[in-house]
Amino acid sequence: MNKNRKLIWEKTNGHCWYCGIKLGEKGWHIDHVEPVKRNLVTGEMSKPERDSNENKVPACASCNLNKHSLPLETWREVIKGYVTSLNRDSTQYKVAKRYGLIEEKPIEVRFWFEENMKH
Ligand SMILES: [Zn+2]
Repeated sequence: MNKNRKLIWEKTNGHCWYCGIKLGEKGWHIDHVEPVKRNLVTGEMSKPERDSNENKVPACASCNLNKHSLPLETWREVIKGYVTSLNRDSTQYKVAKRYGLIEEKPIEVRFWFEENMKH
């Protein structure tokens, strides 16, 4: 792991900033909390000032890809909406739920850092 990646990793002692899963040495992403958008053709950043270590956190690949360039509160709403779309669109989900394999909880989406990082 290079020196800067290690600095980011150490912010959470190797947990995903969002879901809290334990990250391995490899295969994790550096996420920009305040999103940095890149021009798909040139690769140029629209907000280069956000490309600072303060704005970078370790994230698992699935959280990083799922968050994409969404602001945090928008992403929270997207995650919250998954239960609705699963109930609407997924036969497998609906059947598994009917047979008691899935239990929905009326809880808020809380990110790992909200519970574990004191700012
Ligand atoms: Zn994650």
